[in-house]
Amino acid sequence: MTEASDTFEWGDHRPADPNDRTFATALAHPPEDPAAALVGFPFDGAVLGRRGAREGPRALREALAAVKTRRLGAGDTDPRVADRGDAPLEPDAAVEAAHQAAADRARQARDEGVVPVALGGDHSLTYPLVRPHAEAVGDLAVVNVDAHLDVREVHGAPNSGTSFGRLLRDGLVEGEHLAEVGVRDLATSGAYVDWARDQGVHLVPAREVREAGPGAVLDDLYRGPLADADALYLSLDVDAMDQAHAPGVSAPSPGGLTSAAFADLARAAVARAPAPVVGVDVVETAPRHDPTGRTARAAAWALAHVLLELSRGDPP
Ligand code: MN
Ligand code: MN
Repeated sequence: MTEASDTFEWGDHRPADPNDRTFATALAHPPEDPAAALVGFPFDGAVLGRRGAREGPRALREALAAVKTRRLGAGDTDPRVADRGDAPLEPDAAVEAAHQAAADRARQARDEGVVPVALGGDHSLTYPLVRPHAEAVGDLAVVNVDAHLDVREVHGAPNSGTSFGRLLRDGLVEGEHLAEVGVRDLATSGAYVDWARDQGVHLVPAREVREAGPGAVLDDLYRGPLADADALYLSLDVDAMDQAHAPGVSAPSPGGLTSAAFADLARAAVARAPAPVVGVDVVETAPRHDPTGRTARAAAWALAHVLLELSRGDPP
């Protein structure tokens, strides 16, 4: 395994009270057979809006470190998670270099039988993170929780708005197996909305998540168009949350999800998945734009649910 470029010492973040068990406690002593492995990508060289997501991996780890591991009523045991550090990227790495690192790390985790949980970094990374899974399984379904569709055409280099368009255009994911959940009114060009609909992509507006609830929205997808998938990939763009809940993103806007709805979606997306979840990413956390730290805390909250749900699965 490649060395981490920016080592985060989970042991330094352990709680003072020995009765407290947090993700820092768990990650300071990872199990021999983790179900999931964190890997950070401190890269925002392809971001469309404000930069800052390169600081996302550290902010997510710091916030996750303080989250306790027990959910009321869930009967959780310790999370079976390891931290594989950050991919060693230069501060201003080229897009191709960052994407190669993402694809390599996803492939390594796959070969090891652990679920890679990528800490972004900008959303351009999702294309290379998904690719190894899409090539290895028959029908890969993808759930993207995002304010935006990210189906833009590539003009020059890929950017944070192109990952899902690339997956569809390259034939790696079928339109009918892509669900975009929490998408925002007034945030996407009509041309791309029409294009996505023409591909059969399932668009679930943020309003529908508010009105029907996260569980009902996912049940509709999981019992319907995504039911026959062989595996599932979950992408969590933190800007799916409203700017009041997550100001520290490259493209904040109103009309979005609460932090509670975002975490509920993340949890249910794994807990109710109709097929094995083979990869997850949490992208677009840009802490420099949020001195309160609430964005990273909300993202880590959702991430904690994902890690606990992945830990409930059988060991690989
Ligand atoms: Mn977005
Ligand atoms: Mn996005």
